[in-house]
Amino acid sequence: YQVPNWSGGWFRVSDKGQVEVTPTPGLHAPLRAIVDEIVDRGESLPVILRFPQVITGRVKHLNESFQAAIQEYGYTGHYQGVFPIKVNQRRMVVESVAAAGYDYAHGLEAGSKAELALCLAQKMHPDALLCCNGFKDDGFIKLALWGRTLGKNVVITIEKYSELDRILKQAKALGVRPAMGVRFKLHARGSGQWEESGGDQAKFGLNAYELLRVVERLREEDMLDTLVMLHTHIGSQITDIRRVKVAVREATQTYAGLIAAGAQLKYLNVGGGLGVDYDGSKTTFYASMNYTVREYAADIVYTVQEVCKARNVPEPVIVSESGRALTAHHAVLILPVVDVTGPTRDLEDLAPADENSHQIVKDMEDILANITARNYRESYNDAVGDKQTLHNLFDLGYVTLPDRARGEALFNAILRKIARLIQNEKYVPDELEDLQKVLADKFICNFSLFQSLPDNWAIQALFPIVPLDRLNEKPTRQATIVDITCDSDGKIEKFIDLRDVKATLPLHEPGDRPYYLGVFLMGAYQDVLGSAHNLFGKVSEAHVTVRPGGKYHIDLFVRGQKARRMIESMGYEEPMLRDAIEDQADAAIKLGTLTGEQEQEMLDDYGEELLGYTYLEYEN
Ligand code: PLP
Repeated sequence: YQVPNWSGGWFRVSDKGQVEVTPTPGLHAPLRAIVDEIVDRGESLPVILRFPQVITGRVKHLNESFQAAIQEYGYTGHYQGVFPIKVNQRRMVVESVAAAGYDYAHGLEAGSKAELALCLAQKMHPDALLCCNGFKDDGFIKLALWGRTLGKNVVITIEKYSELDRILKQAKALGVRPAMGVRFKLHARGSGQWEESGGDQAKFGLNAYELLRVVERLREEDMLDTLVMLHTHIGSQITDIRRVKVAVREATQTYAGLIAAGAQLKYLNVGGGLGVDYDGSKTTFYASMNYTVREYAADIVYTVQEVCKARNVPEPVIVSESGRALTAHHAVLILPVVDVTGPTRDLEDLAPADENSHQIVKDMEDILANITARNYRESYNDAVGDKQTLHNLFDLGYVTLPDRARGEALFNAILRKIARLIQNEKYVPDELEDLQKVLADKFICNFSLFQSLPDNWAIQALFPIVPLDRLNEKPTRQATIVDITCDSDGKIEKFIDLRDVKATLPLHEPGDRPYYLGVFLMGAYQDVLGSAHNLFGKVSEAHVTVRPGGKYHIDLFVRGQKARRMIESMGYEEPMLRDAIEDQADAAIKLGTLTGEQEQEMLDDYGEELLGYTYLEYEN
């Protein structure tokens, strides 16, 4: 499961074979115990465990990495991060970042009016930045300007040239002096899945000509001092550190060019993009990154300084808008395995072929009995042909249902035997490459992929998935994961691997004790992008702090969305639903399909489901 490779030290496997969260050295708590306590309290799963201490640790790590680089290079400016709340607007997340970042004057970034309204209400260090990105209407601009009157260091990012006039107009009308940033379309590009965020075709930003027009316009207005920041962003999850260096070089040259044109910029904002090593491979693969947070900070500080020295301009305050890297680690989605299905394992249960069995079934039995390391390829081709014939004969009425059942079970047994024979072979014939996947068991887990891991569905994002315990026991099954939505896309068939992506995940045979899987590094973007497919709602969450001595405390448990809320979000109202059911019950009593006594029980059950969790609920 590669835990040490992707966990960044925030999780580990204990001697007892359990996954533990380790928010700071010396503090550790097993996830299984936390989940067991939640279940013992009578709460239903799935649940997201959130660890605020991990967010605190990530904020500290990022800031201290920049501070260390600044000290090492004798950089004369400082670092001030901002957290883009779109990555996760949850109260616990934003408040944890704001609290942990206070002493570092780590600020926030809002990309919409609603996000700005939320950010303005946060307690922030007076120097901390509140960057307003995204397209803006007058209301957004006014709210940002009012923020300055509240003593907040609000900077409005000009995303397109026409916004400048509107900002100036609103500022004059309110009598508030604005602070502005300007987003530049770098020609440098990121790497990985969000490569298109930068470059000439980027959605946001001004080109070089427009940048200079902004400076000219502000000079005319005698407001050059209000342009305080140059903003750039080349995309999220940058996998290759070289792309960061190239972009930061271009950004710093642009900063120097603006200073030369008369601007008085204070901040150079290098945007987001600091990656998360989801698969632990430390490569430029899209789910990884070939650098550490420390290297990221050091390369940015070094590059900015180098260009500033060469151009003889002041070293700016370096700003980054890291989001993913601050929040991904703090959350673990707990998936209870509710059932296992897979290619029939029931050969033993089926009656053996006898003289009445169809010849094709007897042939398949022969194949199974005679597979060897020398003939497995031929056996495979014969079995595929026989299975096809079996189905054709069934369609024509020549093969009975029991024969078909036995034939299909034999086919799967043949594949399993071949899979065992070739598992250590270096060369696997093309036609057998998907064998593991075809043979994999499906572990049915109580969750919705669309609600909880939307990026896995939408952009094939990979998240490490690990059983919470039994890690000192060799897994005996190869599995894929399916959710409980009625959508065949609701499945996970790609798993992390150091060299490649794996089609199956090794898992244990679930026993009498509930078997839980943890999906890690899912604290960035997943909570907010999730959708209500099949009306599965937000899952319950537990906020947990770890205490000395292997102890922990569940500070807060927030129940997931109720069915009623999901239904009401589609325009229905609860009384309307209840009335409709009561009317039907009255009619049913008249018809005699429901008794008067049953009516109340039925209505109680209906009401209970409206108030219940949208996920499967089992008696513990
Ligand atoms: N800043 C801007 C302008 C963005 O568009 C994004 C996301 O793409 C971010 C910051 C956050 O990026 P990340 O989560 O990669 O740190």
